[in-house]
Amino acid sequence: MSWSTVLGEFKMIKTAIKTKAYAANRCGEELKPLEIQRREPGANDVLIDIKFCGVCHSDVHQVKDEWGGARFPMVPGHEIAGIVASIGEQVTRFKPGDRVGVGCMVDSCKECDSCNDGLEQYCENRMVLTYNDLELDGKTPTHGGYSDHITVHERFVVRIPDELALDKAAPLLCAGITTYSPLMHWQAGPGKSVAVVGLGGLGHMAVKLANAMGANVTAISRSLNKKTDAEAMGAKDYLATSDPSSVEKAQERFDLIINTVSSAADMNTYLGMLKRDGVMVLVGAPNEPLPVQAFSLIPKRRSLAGSTIGGIRETQEMLDFCGQHNIGADIEIISIDKINEAYERLLKSDVRYRFVIDIASLQ
Ligand code: NAP
Ligand code: ZN
Repeated sequence: MSWSTVLGEFKMIKTAIKTKAYAANRCGEELKPLEIQRREPGANDVLIDIKFCGVCHSDVHQVKDEWGGARFPMVPGHEIAGIVASIGEQVTRFKPGDRVGVGCMVDSCKECDSCNDGLEQYCENRMVLTYNDLELDGKTPTHGGYSDHITVHERFVVRIPDELALDKAAPLLCAGITTYSPLMHWQAGPGKSVAVVGLGGLGHMAVKLANAMGANVTAISRSLNKKTDAEAMGAKDYLATSDPSSVEKAQERFDLIINTVSSAADMNTYLGMLKRDGVMVLVGAPNEPLPVQAFSLIPKRRSLAGSTIGGIRETQEMLDFCGQHNIGADIEIISIDKINEAYERLLKSDVRYRFVIDIASLQ
């Protein structure tokens, strides 16, 4: 280690930035105020004043340690929108005052084939999650966007187009990119019949994005309650799984299904709706195993696939696409002291369609 690196680290420790946050101190506990430290921007870092942070169902899974390996105290939040406060001396892509976002990753090895292909989410060494993870040093915990500042390597910061309001843009950083990426990969577009299962944060973004890509979109929800909303988002058709006759009519209808369901649901019902060679992509991440019958896949050469978030290049592409098509999330703004209530409501699917925390309420 060179002297300048040692001095740099010393400076970082001395000038850590006091940051207000909300955290779960233990598994499943209610979130409460906590003061954390952010590093002063290093040469390639951007310090961001967080303005808004979306509330993803992944936040609830992780606070409850449903995926295992949770680290506490945990400051959730990976749908971050804010303004650049300051930059390190080698930062070239951003300047103070810029409108920016940070999603689910804050670092990766930056040199493997996946990173070089712009697919940092599939980094072959280690991708660093925005929270509930350790930095590449293997010891500093990462903390997410339920906080007033964050320091991030510029490679993992994206620009929010001027056309998009920051509050409606925040959910694009996870819900947007997680659905945009598989829609692009499996070529949703004109002539393609795309179904979206589950009309929550991810699902409502998938409907808007697939429609803007020119696909013929069907929204699949459990009840008829969200029909009018789904049509306004661009769904040409709507199907309630509570009605067996509409499930029957949907057999072998879709080229692509984006499945956003957050708990274990019957995969065979949805697989039966795929045409020959159709693909169902799981983006929903329940912790329980999902039963799949061989005969849901074999007769029509169907595929069941998975996809996680998207790379940084693709995240910027998605934001620019949303800017051009004027696509933001449908949101309910909350103050941070309502976060525990919001989690309860999210578990009951009682949100239209994303809670977004106004970080100004973090006093
Ligand atoms: P959300 O807002 O709670 O939406 C999930 C939707 O799934 C609900 O609105 C509901 O839609 C449907 N649903 C819930 N339980 C169901 C059940 N038992 N049967 C059928 N449908 C059910 O959650 P979200 O924030 O969109 O996240 C969805 C999932 O994606 C979570 O598991 C999350 O962790 C995961 N996720 C994955 C990635 C990734 O990289 N792959 C990224 C972000 C999030 P209806 O009310 O319309 O039926
Ligand atoms: Zn998320």
